[in-house]
Amino acid sequence: MPTVAPQKEPTRILIVGGGFGGVRTALNLRKQNLPNVKITLLSDRHHFEYTPAYYKIAAGTSPMETCIPLSDIFPDRSVEVIVDTVVAGDTKEHVIFGASGSRYRYDYLVLALGSETAYFNIPGIKEHSYSIKTIDEALRLKAHVHEVFNSHHGMSVFELMSQFQFVIIGGGPAGVELAGVLRAYLRTLARIHEVPERFVTVNLLQGAPRLLPTMNEEVSRRALKRLDSLGINIILGKAVAGEDAIGVYLKDIGFSARTIIWTAGVKATSVYEKITGLTLEKNGRIVVNESMMAVGVRDVFVLGDSASTPFAGTAQTAIYDGHYIASALTSRLRRMNLPKYSPKPTPYVIPVGNNWAIFTFKNITLSGRIFFWLREIIDLRFFMSILPFKKAWFAWRSGGTQVESCPNCKH
Ligand SMILES: Cc1cc2nc3c(=O)[nH]c(=O)nc-3n(C[C@H](O)[C@H](O)[C@H](O)COP(=O)(O)OP(=O)(O)OC[C@H]3O[C@@H](n4cnc5c(N)ncnc54)[C@H](O)[C@@H]3O)c2cc1C
Repeated sequence: MPTVAPQKEPTRILIVGGGFGGVRTALNLRKQNLPNVKITLLSDRHHFEYTPAYYKIAAGTSPMETCIPLSDIFPDRSVEVIVDTVVAGDTKEHVIFGASGSRYRYDYLVLALGSETAYFNIPGIKEHSYSIKTIDEALRLKAHVHEVFNSHHGMSVFELMSQFQFVIIGGGPAGVELAGVLRAYLRTLARIHEVPERFVTVNLLQGAPRLLPTMNEEVSRRALKRLDSLGINIILGKAVAGEDAIGVYLKDIGFSARTIIWTAGVKATSVYEKITGLTLEKNGRIVVNESMMAVGVRDVFVLGDSASTPFAGTAQTAIYDGHYIASALTSRLRRMNLPKYSPKPTPYVIPVGNNWAIFTFKNITLSGRIFFWLREIIDLRFFMSILPFKKAWFAWRSGGTQVESCPNCKH
């Protein structure tokens, strides 16, 4: 009788985090059709969230654009999708622990858990402010905005001023994009609810001396001019000292406001403190070598917002890293040398108000209506890179659909 050789156990690649970088890594690995390899994507939700469109949800558009089921991205079993929350890990034992109590063993691990909101220990901010770091948070802000308009009857002039004062803290891309669309949305709500427009104000507070400080000065100048023309009050160079239930306070001035939105800080997820052996920077990002592998531990790749690289902090960098890590892992499994990672600056398009955007890449800065459409094309191209055309088209079209549940605003 011929003896049957025992089947070799498959190599287990565990990708934790179903965001931009994690999804890209899994899709590219799947394309490689590597023999005897098991790819698992572990994430804390059933869907992928398209963060660049969060700001629009708060101003009334459909969340369908931002919420893509992972089962639509990975419809077959070539990538195993598991929904669980990573709570800890042991890199020596090659195991990740989930909140469900499950243990996930791996031969190679890809850390792609992204970032979380940072409040820098400023008193009261976490407790009293709104945020747009997840779809739920953006929807919560939208519901609150409607509540503000539905609950102003019988108020004094002084109370109305506070009721309709909206303060956005943070002049990075999220704060600038939100300020632009919120202004127009509030104007529409004021008309529907018959609130005199003079009571409705949008303020943008920025601690740094200019808006969008990680980009070139021309970008900051154009964003400032555009927001100013939309009627937004901008305060630069003043850090927030605290917040309470009544308002927000800078060093020498206070704003009495019912709505304060914090967009001023992110840091890598704090779960990384619970995974043994990783070396973390002050902002929580993981120190990596020139192959995007975590230093000091074995078989762990890191990407996107999680990795301490020069251009981390954008979706484009996370996607770029996903491409790189899929090819590095493929090389490793084929016993070839790992390619060297070269950090790359990426172009950025920032919509500021309806139908207008700034395009920037290195020292080039352009702006106008055409760049708003460029951004729309970039969004569609992204959806098409992860979904079949019909589903990509549906997600993209949803981004232009206004959805209201407030009884007074429904048509
Ligand atoms: C409001 C906003 C607007 C933005 N706009 C832009 C933009 O216009 N252009 C741009 O380039 N970038 C933008 N960014 C930045 C961009 O979203 C991030 O840089 C990008 O998402 C990073 O990708 P990532 O793969 O590292 O992490 P993410 O895409 O954040 O993915 C992390 C994944 O891990 C999951 N996860 C988190 N914790 C756990 C856990 N404990 N267990 C299991 N799963 C977990 C999350 O659910 C998520 O699926 C924006 C960010 C925000 C907040």
